Amino acid sequence: MLPSRYFVELTQPEIAAQLKKNPLVILPAGSVEQHGPHLPAGTDSFAANTMAHAVAERMDALVIPGTPLGVTPMHMPFEATITLAPDTYMRLVTDACVSTAKHGARYLLILNWHEGNMPSLALVAEALHREHAMTVLTVQACYVAEELYGKSCNGLTHGGEIEALAVLAERPELVHLDRIELPTLRTVTRWIACAAPGAFSRCSPTSARSRRRAGSAAHSTPLRRRAGA
Ligand SMILES: [Zn+2]
Repeated sequence: MLPSRYFVELTQPEIAAQLKKNPLVILPAGSVEQHGPHLPAGTDSFAANTMAHAVAERMDALVIPGTPLGVTPMHMPFEATITLAPDTYMRLVTDACVSTAKHGARYLLILNWHEGNMPSLALVAEALHREHAMTVLTVQACYVAEELYGKSCNGLTHGGEIEALAVLAERPELVHLDRIELPTLRTVTRWIACAAPGAFSRCSPTSARSRRRAGSAAHSTPLRRRAGA
């Protein structure tokens, strides 16, 4: 039995044997961006990682390292954001996946939590399939969570209940439910200044929409458990 599902925690013989046994690898994709005063900047990456690990357990796969960073220029007005240019992101993800393909990985599951990564990941997936014979499935994990928990969590919103639950599942100490606040006029103005018309119709600027239902560590367990369902 593998001591870990994380590629970076395994030794060379363990990785070689696992890829031979099951050539399936999972790449979590998230971002580092502001999530208001109550959630950490790495919320999307924590969420993607949590779900990737849960799926890896169920599918006997390895979680490979990509980058915690994503493509998120829309959040750059806020200090907690670091964005990659799309070509940088695509190059980085492609190189990581091609490396594993050279070592025997044949199937790649990209588990993405951040909407801004979607166009880049679509191009990467196509190239990995065409040029490196990988079978690639990209899952928009945030939408899966929305499907499972949207009704009970007021939908999928930026910094909202579903994202809070995803962090509570693994890193509850990083969630500060007592700091949730409604967005101020200044916050909204900063947001709108860089937003394309209608781009954020699904988002609530920097805070969860409901303190009442923002969740608890206990509430988050089903999210983790059902991640691989
Ligand atoms: Zn997020």
